[in-house]
Amino acid sequence: MDMPAPPDPRGLVVCPRCDALHHAPSLKAGGRADCARCGTVLEAPRRISVAEVLALSATVGVLMLGALFLPFLSISSMGLRNDSSIIDAALAFSTGLQTPLVLTVLASIVLLPLARVALLWWAMAPLAFGGAPLPGARAALALDEDLKPWAMAEIFVVGVAVALVKIADLASLTIGPAFWMLICAVLVGTLQEALTDRSALWRELEVARTRARASA
Ligand SMILES: [Zn+2]
Repeated sequence: MDMPAPPDPRGLVVCPRCDALHHAPSLKAGGRADCARCGTVLEAPRRISVAEVLALSATVGVLMLGALFLPFLSISSMGLRNDSSIIDAALAFSTGLQTPLVLTVLASIVLLPLARVALLWWAMAPLAFGGAPLPGARAALALDEDLKPWAMAEIFVVGVAVALVKIADLASLTIGPAFWMLICAVLVGTLQEALTDRSALWRELEVARTRARASA
């Protein structure tokens, strides 16, 4: 009885997340292949290194921290002037029933993007510096991907722009540095997502884990 020939392993790729086996796609730069089972990006050829991804993500982190604490808006009306940062605004509304809403908004604007920066650095920074991955690196990289849809600073920027147009008639507004920092954070974050080859991050992590296990 003839056994079927085993598939040629050279033409196959394994999903780094769910281990589903796929035929290796042939993609040009800018193309993308997703896992059929869990949707993880398998291949998306691009040209930026892990260190460059980390640099962009650190930039987002610094801009987000600035956006959180520096003055976001000053409103002056009839001789009174009030500067407020995002944190001030959150604290001002954080009493009673509004607390959960304020925390959710704060989380989706700045806390989740900051958490994603920390997770990406936890997962990838030791590799960029030539070291072994930290414990939980795979989980950190996976969680970073899972949080992506919930981090929505850009929607807040649009909301603020709409609100500004409406308030401009009532009081004179000055936009503070935090507003511009948040816009820059959104732009740099979008650039980072567009240039990052997630499949390359997973591959590099896997290579580093194998190397660390072999030398242990
Ligand atoms: Zn998968």
